[in-house]
Amino acid sequence: MPEESTDKTIGKPPIALTQCTTQGDAAEKAPLEISENRWLGKAKHASGLYIHIPFCFHKCHYCDFFSIAHADDEHEPFARALVNELEHVGPNCGELDTVFIGGGTPTLLENGLLERVLSAIRDSFHLSEDVEWTVEANPETVTESNAAILANAGVNRVSIGAQTFHPHLLKELERWHDPRNVIRSVELLRSSGIDNINLDLIYAIPTETMPMLQSDLQQLIDLSPEHLSCYALTFEPNTPLEVKLRKGAVSKVEHELEAEMFKVVSDTLLQHGYHQYEISNFAKRGFECKHNVMYWENKSWWACGPAAAGHVDGLRWRNVPRLRDYYKQNPLPPVVDVEQLSVDQQMGEVCMLGLRLTRGIPRATVKMVIQQSPDLWRGAVIDSFIQDGLLEWKNDSLAFTKNGRIMGDVVIGDLLMKDG
Ligand code: SF4
Repeated sequence: MPEESTDKTIGKPPIALTQCTTQGDAAEKAPLEISENRWLGKAKHASGLYIHIPFCFHKCHYCDFFSIAHADDEHEPFARALVNELEHVGPNCGELDTVFIGGGTPTLLENGLLERVLSAIRDSFHLSEDVEWTVEANPETVTESNAAILANAGVNRVSIGAQTFHPHLLKELERWHDPRNVIRSVELLRSSGIDNINLDLIYAIPTETMPMLQSDLQQLIDLSPEHLSCYALTFEPNTPLEVKLRKGAVSKVEHELEAEMFKVVSDTLLQHGYHQYEISNFAKRGFECKHNVMYWENKSWWACGPAAAGHVDGLRWRNVPRLRDYYKQNPLPPVVDVEQLSVDQQMGEVCMLGLRLTRGIPRATVKMVIQQSPDLWRGAVIDSFIQDGLLEWKNDSLAFTKNGRIMGDVVIGDLLMKDG
């Protein structure tokens, strides 16, 4: 855990760091306290910022994010609290290369509130000249006016949850949007001047067939987005969809079909000029998502808003996922699920995250990982995977071979921890 002890020298209440409140017996541990000064001092290491806006107009049945539906009355008090937090944190951060506003549905905020939040970011943080600034949007909520607000504020990338163009598959997900609004949103955003667009696809939805997926892919390609995130549906524990699965009300797509779908997604996108730079992410050259690459390179980012997760130099945490507590302790929200990774654990994470990228982990980073592993143990594990044909050196980086990717869980398990 962090070495800091209680420090009340600045006359403000300390920030309580509650350890792993969602993980087993660690929940018993008492919170550690750290002065506001020291806590915010960590923000200077961040090269990215994640902001969570927790509102949606309807809760999709597969979603386990912290998001609240039918809470319009909360938008104004929330925006006020978030702006306070942003103005408080901003001056403590260094130059940011990426900003990502996710949720929830950030574009559900009324125009005036959206403008206030975006202005607070622009005015309080030091954004690099070529900052990548992303906002997530639900296709139902993009309008000519909020597209203009985003573009004028400096947002240069929008990520739209398209998911599928088949109304009956959207219904399986209990996702409420008209697929025609995906096309409309892309047009509105492009007209406003935003020329870096991601579309999310979900495949392997109950009752989905291969021709349905192929038609979804074609419609996505026709829109010519710069980036595509393509994930097989996951049944997150205790979501309404997972409960339906347990009750036998829906069935998973067969495992073989899901694997075949993954291959069709990769092959089709490759044929249409996208390259797969991460297991589930595809981009035209030069449009890889810098913010997500920052996660996979295990860099440091700060988190604002309820339930937002942050990471600075091996310290991982989450802001409290409850609006009432978020308001009560404004401008710095209570921090939960704090975990300080040991150096060995951090090296495991560098391997786990870096191998998700198809380009792999640069040789210099691999060298650092081995040197920081007690008794250099990861060196022997990496050598044996290279001999077994599961890892390889490619362009001076360590990456999965084709077989290695299939056995990815085993390889990563062995690199995460000794005798893992
Ligand atoms: S729109 Fe996104 S965040 Fe909101 S409920 Fe649906 S999946 Fe969750």
